[in-house]
Amino acid sequence: MKAEPPFALPLSRASAYFHIPYCARKCAYCDFHSVPLPEGAAEARGALRALLDAEIRQFDFYLDHWRPAGIPTLYIGGGTPSLIPPEILERFLGEITRRLGSPPEEFTIEANPESLGGEFLDVCASAGIGRLSLGIQSFDPRCLQTLGRHAKPEDSRRALRLLGLHWKGETSLDLMYGIPGQTSRGALADAGEALEQGPGHLSLYALTPEEGTPLHSRMQAGSTPALDEARQESIRNKVHDFLLGRGYENYEISSYALPGKRCRHNAAYWNLKPYMGIGPSAVSTLPGSAGPLRLSGPRDIGIYTRDPCRPETEALSARDFMADYILLGLRSSGGIDPRAFFRIFGIDFRDTFSRTVRKNRRFVAKNAENPGAFALTAKGRRVLNPILVDFFLELDRLDYTQMPVWPMGGNS
Ligand code: SF4
Repeated sequence: MKAEPPFALPLSRASAYFHIPYCARKCAYCDFHSVPLPEGAAEARGALRALLDAEIRQFDFYLDHWRPAGIPTLYIGGGTPSLIPPEILERFLGEITRRLGSPPEEFTIEANPESLGGEFLDVCASAGIGRLSLGIQSFDPRCLQTLGRHAKPEDSRRALRLLGLHWKGETSLDLMYGIPGQTSRGALADAGEALEQGPGHLSLYALTPEEGTPLHSRMQAGSTPALDEARQESIRNKVHDFLLGRGYENYEISSYALPGKRCRHNAAYWNLKPYMGIGPSAVSTLPGSAGPLRLSGPRDIGIYTRDPCRPETEALSARDFMADYILLGLRSSGGIDPRAFFRIFGIDFRDTFSRTVRKNRRFVAKNAENPGAFALTAKGRRVLNPILVDFFLELDRLDYTQMPVWPMGGNS
């Protein structure tokens, strides 16, 4: 089904994500929607200009039809946004910012070390981007080689020095654990080196080589043996303890932040706030007249750039929407706020899920950071799947016919 304007309801606020689906080359574990940037400077520039023009057209389509009163957070991710030449990026950012009524509360862009340059940082800062997320993953050359990353350790070190000299905004660094051949000592050395730059935010991801990727094939064939689960868990726990010891809060399964430095854009996803996903394959969750809609742009970049304003549209059932809300809430240290839950779904969280709450009480945080919230302990967040199964069994027994239509009480 194609999205047509009559589905749209005016919004109070909605975050926006812009997807840049180009990378220098494909990493060995990655199945995100990204493709190598066309070779040759002219071809690369042409492809990026066509893409970014289409993204602005899609942004206009959403702004016209949903008319959000504000855009609290903006995020430009990928792919590799730092591949965009500075003058093309400057024009793109200018087009975005002149459509905003007021500056967003948080504006983030992703970068990879090998393509991060001083001019890129200057353009970002001038356009009001205040947060840069850098994909390091590891400083160990063998790990980087196993992952098929483009950057060498010296690229990451150069990028961090550059940030230290030129970047006044916030920084988030991505690290990875569970890489074949990685040791606890190596992962701790990665974390220690990353913290030398003093980032306010750090993401620590488990390697999940997706089926169909070269690394997955090598692991299946045994030529690159996977770390066993106990080993992975032990590495993760050591890095986790190290980060806590350095003052970082583990506020979501993979996310660590110094006080006051949590990512607000991700919180919008986790709280199922309305958001506009702009770009090939990007997903939006926006209100429709009969309930929430999930809209997705075409994956094919050529099809997208020709007509970016015809996303596939799927009506989200109240059951699926509630399942997403519970999943995302349980992943975060803030947990599920029963008052927000009631505003969105019109039912009492603790009464509705009393059986699951009782059964899993050993995983329930005693001193949730939000008073009254239902939150899991750090251990509970790591053994999430069986807890979710309990919730989902209860979800299947609910009567959804009387539930209010999101986002009448939940989009502010
Ligand atoms: S840089 Fe990121 S998005 Fe691009 S191929 Fe590597 S992991 Fe995937």
